[in-house]
Amino acid sequence: MSEKEAVKVVVRCRPFSEKEKAAGHSNVVTINKEAATVGIIDPKAPNDPLPKTFTFDSVFDIQSTQQEVYNKTARPIVESVLAGYNGTIFAYGQTGTGKTFSMEGIRDVPELRGIIPNAFEHIFTEISMAEKTTQFLVRASYLEIYNEDIIDLLNPKAGKLEVKERADTGIYVKDLRTFVIKDVEEMDRLMSFGNKNRSVGATEMNATSSRSHSIFSITVEASEKKPDGEEHIRAGKLHLVDLAGSERQGKTGATGERLKEAAKINLSLSALGNVISALVDGKSSHIPYRDSKLTRLLQDSLGGNAKTLMVATMSPASYNYDETVSTLRYANRTK
Ligand code: ADP
Ligand code: MG
Repeated sequence: MSEKEAVKVVVRCRPFSEKEKAAGHSNVVTINKEAATVGIIDPKAPNDPLPKTFTFDSVFDIQSTQQEVYNKTARPIVESVLAGYNGTIFAYGQTGTGKTFSMEGIRDVPELRGIIPNAFEHIFTEISMAEKTTQFLVRASYLEIYNEDIIDLLNPKAGKLEVKERADTGIYVKDLRTFVIKDVEEMDRLMSFGNKNRSVGATEMNATSSRSHSIFSITVEASEKKPDGEEHIRAGKLHLVDLAGSERQGKTGATGERLKEAAKINLSLSALGNVISALVDGKSSHIPYRDSKLTRLLQDSLGGNAKTLMVATMSPASYNYDETVSTLRYANRTK
């Protein structure tokens, strides 16, 4: 598998909200699913003869369902995690464009469940079919990176955690709690519990999830009895990442803590872009994993045998044009 095949970038455009419809915002986006392209017209240059066009591995429009997105993007990655490889799925985009909708979705409406609950459903279905020959152990953890600090969402009282590396097991977060999960309901409880703890440790009361990265990690260990009587053990790790909003934060007169926070988000998102494009490029001998906590933490699940998927989410509305173009450029650069 070449790095090019190992890294996939897809774009998903959310529908207009009721509020946007009422305000009469116009659509500037054209999605061509067959050609996997996104076209966008600059509302400030209505005389441009052609839209700017970007090509991706797949594109999803306002009609695309959660199941369709899962099957085309996450399903093959989860399959390879079950086969013992690592994988990472990111949601990248401006706040309000559907990152959380894509990753988590609306969990109490079955057809609106996102990638994370669908991944669990998928994993436990596969496990139930293979149980005769194979024993499985599924574990999950849930953390947040806020201001370059790592906080355990399942145990926030532990405070800031550190990234460590061991020769045998690789990169890990010291003292991070992991839970053995038996079914989808347990995963559900873990997520709800963790979500209540988002942005604990923030110095400002109004800090929201849009300024932190969350990483839900699943490890699947399998021990299979082969016909020759020998025991084969494999382990795969899947990271599901809801990134901080990509909008240029702090552009408008932010000062003090807020400005520092914005600088750290920009730093980690550009570090991620640099790592992914270095992997895809394949020519660089140095991959700059150490430039941010995010890339450091995910080091052994980006590149090598691991599969990486970026879901870039965007708005169709004219007033979001600048941010949408910047999302498309970022997503395109990583290809
Ligand atoms: P983000 O996490 O990027 O800030 P959200 O996932 O919270 O954005 O989405 C913002 C709003 O838009 C939510 O109300 C969400 O339910 C809705 N939404 C986002 N994407 C879609 C979609 N593809 N289909 C329907 N509703 C969506
Ligand atoms: Mg969100």
